[in-house]
Amino acid sequence: MNSRHDLEPTDAAALLVALCDHLGDASALTPNLHLDPLAGRMPGVGWTDEQSAEAHRRISEMLERLEDQPEPAAPPSPAARRTMIEWLAGGPVSDRSAGMLRDELALDGDARTPSWHVSDVDRPPTRVAVIGAGMSGILAAYRLLQAGCHVIVFEKNSGLGGTWFENVYPGCRVDVPNHVYSYSCAQKADWPFHHSPRPVLHEYFQDCAEQWGVGPHIRFGVEVMDATWDDTTDEWRVGTIGEQDGEHRFDVVVSAVGQLNRPVLPEIEGRDGFEGEAFHTARWRDDVDLSGKRVAVIGTGASAMQVIPEIAPVVEELTVFQRTPAWLVNRPLYHAPLDQGVLDLFERIPAYLHWFRLRRFWDTHQGSLDAAKLDPDWDGPLERSVSEMSELLREIFTGYIEEQFADRPDLLAQVVPNYPVGAKRFILDNGIWAESLKRDNVSLVTDGIDRITASGVETDGDHHDVDVVIYGTGFSASSFLAPMAVVGRGGADLRERWGDDARAYYGMTVPDFPNFFCLYGPNTNIVVNGSIIFFSECAVNYLVESIGQLRTDGLSAMDVRPEVHDAQIQHIDAANSEMVWGLSSVNSWYKSATGRIAQNWPFPLADYWAATQQPDRADYERW
Ligand code: NAP
Repeated sequence: MNSRHDLEPTDAAALLVALCDHLGDASALTPNLHLDPLAGRMPGVGWTDEQSAEAHRRISEMLERLEDQPEPAAPPSPAARRTMIEWLAGGPVSDRSAGMLRDELALDGDARTPSWHVSDVDRPPTRVAVIGAGMSGILAAYRLLQAGCHVIVFEKNSGLGGTWFENVYPGCRVDVPNHVYSYSCAQKADWPFHHSPRPVLHEYFQDCAEQWGVGPHIRFGVEVMDATWDDTTDEWRVGTIGEQDGEHRFDVVVSAVGQLNRPVLPEIEGRDGFEGEAFHTARWRDDVDLSGKRVAVIGTGASAMQVIPEIAPVVEELTVFQRTPAWLVNRPLYHAPLDQGVLDLFERIPAYLHWFRLRRFWDTHQGSLDAAKLDPDWDGPLERSVSEMSELLREIFTGYIEEQFADRPDLLAQVVPNYPVGAKRFILDNGIWAESLKRDNVSLVTDGIDRITASGVETDGDHHDVDVVIYGTGFSASSFLAPMAVVGRGGADLRERWGDDARAYYGMTVPDFPNFFCLYGPNTNIVVNGSIIFFSECAVNYLVESIGQLRTDGLSAMDVRPEVHDAQIQHIDAANSEMVWGLSSVNSWYKSATGRIAQNWPFPLADYWAATQQPDRADYERW
């Protein structure tokens, strides 16, 4: 087996289907070359060597034909396109999966362009406030502008990009394949890496905002403090501070504030008495020179595990405080540049970029979701695995960690997780984690932290003297929308309504808060599959179509019906309680203070796609 795309940079399956698309001849897509649907998701699954050789023979033949036919043939019919999609997917897919994949492929135009424009409707343009100019806010502004809305984006920072603006720690890079972590309507042919570093991502979002004309609509350095629904005028009054203090009136408010932007410093005794430098990964201090310093990193989540390999060679001593080890997933291409041959082919065959991206989307869309679901007949301990597939993943992941630490049994004993794969986000690795922990100047401490003193960190009777403490301790993810005060119909207070458990209909709308939409809202995060950009694209589609429906129906406001909202939340909660992140008692930012999973979407991505195509008017009270 050798066709896993993370082992084979060209991705022969994507190239073959792209060549067929370009040449207008799909005869090479024969069933004997169907990929196993698990290809890309399970190590060792893919084409046999014979199938791979046959695919490469066909690719060579078609590349020769390309010499005579450099221009793409006419686009295939929708039915022929679906056949090609299904070939890449390894067999027939449901209508909703086919629709989702067609939108993601985006070869037949941009399917998510708004279906309406203000000029078609005899009403003044809708005034929309978008809060946050990160990945979701930029996209929302673009789509709303396409529909002819009046848009203002309030951004508390001095620049756009949200998480990619704020997280400047060394080693920060995207942990889903770059091609998937990009908008379907802005596919980028020149990602330098499979998982690009932060500056590249930041530039991508800046470029999108510029190309889409979003920039002039952003008010930087302006923080929204409150939003209050005015029952008498059917408007939101939005209060801001910063560069633009004051009150503004809008028809619709869109919260695009993200989930991971309020850093948390842990409640550890003595924390504030530390006399050296101390900072959070998301508030990186470039002015603190770490070279030759004794440094502590507290936490081993996704942020810390990117920082540690970068600073380990620079500092004099590094002490890593790990409370819970992470599962590592072997990604040989984690730090690898895109193959130059692939970049050249993107130029010669424009469809290749789209199929290359779709292959990655398809491989990650389900990811390990099946393995993360409880098999009711599974009789193994749930703190180990939740199904046969979950147990198999555990064995594969454990095998990888054992391989990595084979020469260091002392470390191995500390780094194998004791919870099922998927209960927390797993971390991409290419050997860099073991390499870092094995360095002579690095020590891993797994005893609990008792206190922080003026000169270091104390654990179980040991004192670790350090000059700098770096907190990789995550974010206050459950405090959705904090510190904003949002007041809806009849004075309903969103913070009181939610308490510790944010809930919204499909992560977007909340009863008594008319014309208020959240993007990347409650229960729209994913753990073991997909990319959140997909969720934002779907949610933005729903938002823009909702406004379109109101306008075409001559109405001003929509408020989700409580019974519709509650039924959907019950459905989500029931499903999350059978997912590994709901079953395991391990710490994670997916759980609120009450233990409810307030973050994660437990269903296939295609379900979210289908639900967000068009709002159902019956789900809302509308006036
Ligand atoms: P995180 O996953 O919440 O990790 C926080 C870490 O701090 C955990 O290891 C946690 O231990 C530890 N910790 C918290 N309080 C502690 C205490 N009192 N004592 C000792 N250790 C403590 O935060 P993150 O690493 O910033 O990542 C958050 C999310 O951001 C990720 O899950 C991912 O979705 C996203 N992210 C993505 C990327 C990327 O795309 N490249 C990079 C970074 C982050 P426990 O596990 O025991 O709680």
